[in-house]
Amino acid sequence: MPTDLQDSFPLVLPTPPTPGTGQQGQPAPLAPSSLFNLDALFKNPVFAGGIGLAGLGAAATIGRRALIRGTELLRRSMLVNVEISKRDPSYNWVLAWLAQPREEGGFLARRITRIRNLAVATSTRSVAAGSEKAEDETGRTHADFRVQPGYGHHIIRHRPGCYIGVKREKAGTTTTMTGEPHETLTLTLLWAHRHVLSELFTEAHALASQFHEGKTVVYTAKRMEWHTLGKPRLKRPLGSVILDEGVKESLVGDVKEFLAARQWYVDRGVPYRRGYLLYGPPGTGKTSFIQALAGELDYSVAMINLSEVGVTDDLLAHLLTQQPEKSILVLEDVDAALGNRRARDPDGYSGKTVTFSGLLNALDGLAAGEDRIAFLTTNHVERLDPALIRPGRVDMMVRIGEATRFQAAEMWDRYYGDIDIDRSGRERFLGRLAELGLFGADPENPNVPRGRHTSTAAIQGLFQFNKNDMEGAIKMAEGLIPRAFEA
Ligand code: ADP
Repeated sequence: MPTDLQDSFPLVLPTPPTPGTGQQGQPAPLAPSSLFNLDALFKNPVFAGGIGLAGLGAAATIGRRALIRGTELLRRSMLVNVEISKRDPSYNWVLAWLAQPREEGGFLARRITRIRNLAVATSTRSVAAGSEKAEDETGRTHADFRVQPGYGHHIIRHRPGCYIGVKREKAGTTTTMTGEPHETLTLTLLWAHRHVLSELFTEAHALASQFHEGKTVVYTAKRMEWHTLGKPRLKRPLGSVILDEGVKESLVGDVKEFLAARQWYVDRGVPYRRGYLLYGPPGTGKTSFIQALAGELDYSVAMINLSEVGVTDDLLAHLLTQQPEKSILVLEDVDAALGNRRARDPDGYSGKTVTFSGLLNALDGLAAGEDRIAFLTTNHVERLDPALIRPGRVDMMVRIGEATRFQAAEMWDRYYGDIDIDRSGRERFLGRLAELGLFGADPENPNVPRGRHTSTAAIQGLFQFNKNDMEGAIKMAEGLIPRAFEA
């Protein structure tokens, strides 16, 4: 092959001129051997200057890289970083902890720790304590403002000699589920102060618990995430919810028994879930009972209203994977998920609301959490599919109905017990309700329309209106007749 190559491309090199034979006044051309004459090369001022500059440039780059790397190494070995994602529950605790007033320290400390970029977190609550609305009847609201470190870098002084670098930033990408930018909080401490971190998280958690102490947190689904509904509200005492005789006791007893039987489920490999269905007309205390129960158990409440537009199967499944810790799941208006939809949509899914299979999946399918107490509520039990009533989906069904004599008496005692000493007022009130036929069909009074009832919410409203005036309540009892039966 080389022979062939040589044959086809004879390598003819020009004959080198003998050194010193160049024309006068012109430098003699370099002989090929001079290409490797480094001396001559470096004596060439252009070449030497270029090399010098390139060398300097390279040295500067290497030096800079070394400095960055060195600083990074030093930072890594001397500092400790903790990144907290907004999705983590501790994010808000730590922000609240950072917002706490702290000792300012000396002049230098004040200069270092001055936070110039603040953010305000506002929450509103009703003037009427315990009310579920953000405003009272007069539309007044209370607003609470909390100043927190805003976006950017801050330094806070935890205690003399111990500083914490805080970086709060919006990550460039948006969270796929909400469309809102994701946020992170990065805390930086000296390695020597790393023990402060556990202290910090314990304090932040204690602060959050103190804020929630004696309160019930209610979460609702907003877009694709759980959000607290207003501020944590004072725990509602179970005694303040008056259900028919024995109903409350059997429900509370069952939940407590379930909570105590965790190991039983674990040993048998049965999912640790229990479902309750509370049905009956509106205003009978279903929601109030669940909130009071949560308070009693020291749980929070995570509510999803299935009749809301936009609550789809996917959203429901997603929310269940994110259900707040130690919370009772409440699925309101479950009939909206099924009702007539199964018959109406042959494919069972229109993409707008939850389907029956979506609901079942939420209750005991892949989407269902391992550890869960769920309360389903409906005003239309007749619309429900029997497939819903299965162990693990719905284990106990309870009707919370119209006010009974027992409930009316209990409510009377709660409002007027201390002024109606001999209970004669109570007897007159109950007699009046019976006369009006508000305890349902009355065989002794055939003139009363059948099916007339009143609700516990209506009785509560009457008593609220006549606080400390039991005679007024008796006089106004007629107002308890539901509109449909008014003459
Ligand atoms: P539901 O969920 O059955 O529609 P709610 O629990 O929302 O009813 O009750 C509406 C209002 O009426 C609440 O302010 C609640 O305090 C009052 N209420 C209704 N039923 C009862 C009850 N059984 N005991 C105490 N309060 C009740």
